[in-house]
Amino acid sequence: MANAIPEKIRMNTTLLEHLAEVAKDAALLKGVLMRIQETPNSSELVTYAPFTLFPTPVPEAVFSQALALQTHFNTLVDKISQDAEFLQDALASTIEVDDFTARLFKIHQQIVKEGTSQSVVCGLNRSDYMLDQAEDGSSSLKQIEINTIAASFGGLSSCTPDVHRHILQVAGQLEQSERILDNNPAAGLARAVAKAWELYGSEKAVIMFLVEEGQRNIFDHRYVEKELWNRNIATMRRRFDDVSKTGSLDQDKRLFVDGQEVAVVYFRNGYMPQNYNSEKDWDARLMMERSLAVKCPDISTHLVGTKKVQQVLATPGVLEKFFPHQPQVVEQIRATFAGLYTLDMGPEGDQTVAMALAAPERFVLKPQREGGGNNFYGSEMCEVLQEVKDGTERTAYILMDKIHPAPVQNVLLRRDAPLQISTCLSELGVFGTYVRKGQDMVLNECVGHLLRTKSSEHSDGGVASGVAVLDNPLLF
Ligand code: ADP
Ligand code: MG
Ligand code: MG
Repeated sequence: MANAIPEKIRMNTTLLEHLAEVAKDAALLKGVLMRIQETPNSSELVTYAPFTLFPTPVPEAVFSQALALQTHFNTLVDKISQDAEFLQDALASTIEVDDFTARLFKIHQQIVKEGTSQSVVCGLNRSDYMLDQAEDGSSSLKQIEINTIAASFGGLSSCTPDVHRHILQVAGQLEQSERILDNNPAAGLARAVAKAWELYGSEKAVIMFLVEEGQRNIFDHRYVEKELWNRNIATMRRRFDDVSKTGSLDQDKRLFVDGQEVAVVYFRNGYMPQNYNSEKDWDARLMMERSLAVKCPDISTHLVGTKKVQQVLATPGVLEKFFPHQPQVVEQIRATFAGLYTLDMGPEGDQTVAMALAAPERFVLKPQREGGGNNFYGSEMCEVLQEVKDGTERTAYILMDKIHPAPVQNVLLRRDAPLQISTCLSELGVFGTYVRKGQDMVLNECVGHLLRTKSSEHSDGGVASGVAVLDNPLLF
């Protein structure tokens, strides 16, 4: 099995313990921070965000492939977001049974009916991949999903390269240390948000981060905020409840919150059912969507990130519709698609059910949810499928081929966890940003990457859900 731990250190527990201490201090020093679970809304007590002791080897070719694809995925997301008919068709069966997606879709429909008041759109995406390992040891890039709302860790991943550089230096691995890539998604995200602010065209208007109730991961946001303040653009942080209590639209649909005009709403919340505590929160979302403020993302772009849209995109002919004159782009994108299968009512969906029940270890069952920890695997997947397979409830899910990345030995550093070597799996994210004004793509960039690594015991879950930790690729 591949090993991220340098050979001479593997058996040396004393040295590993020493490096772990050095690593935690380096993380604190470099600002790889999180508030503690007990007090998510106070910065009195903070700790390091969980991370790997060593960077994980990633093949250079596959890494470059992922970066090269990002602007195409940006274009794809943006095109779909403007195609109301496609979204309607793709999500029709899902919204009949999934209340959350249905509520989002209702807002989308209302905006389509009323017409958007703002022609500027800002997308901040993160396309996530795993490297599927073939029998011959080669690996191919397979997309897990695209996150089109609240994609996180662009801030903290801007600080982790220096931490790994330092650890490798102390471990006597100078050559490796120098090979750690620079990364600064925070700057790229801010560049897009700043462009959206500029196009809104009011010096005194602010950028509002729409944030969660519990804000453990605030430092990740703070990096982007700081980049904006560096440009003399004011930011503020508000929750749904604040918007609901102090927000309003004037007759030109300008959004005011707490007396301040909002040029851009950057959603770092609003992607899970539990983010909406009451009807008032839903009303606040609708008000923001209706407003003249630029939304990152707007409601239609949010919906493009659903797993159902991902599955529909993988059906023959669909990518061609969005890139009619670019067969090479279609080919490049399609090459990263794993098998994705519909559970819609009908013979095709029936076939999906039968296939999954016959070989559960080959698949993942996914509902339309975000944030990690929502998917079903193995025997649990079978139980869920047995329950829903004969009725329309099954259309709330899609089925996907399970990706098998090569396991790598590493040490996961997490507050209060014992030091141990774990068998790990990694997921590579690529950040993309774009700003469009009317039909004019003003900016379309790939702005950095994120490597997350988790113990292979867990089949699901991200950093925020306490399973994965931050990492860096070491290209080979
Ligand atoms: P979420 O939007 O909740 O992050 P994901 O589709 O990213 O949903 O799934 C969550 C996690 O489950 C991923 O980070 C990955 O670890 C695992 N996972 C998802 N899809 C697959 C797959 N096809 N094969 C293997 N693991 C998967
Ligand atoms: Mg997601
Ligand atoms: Mg994910």
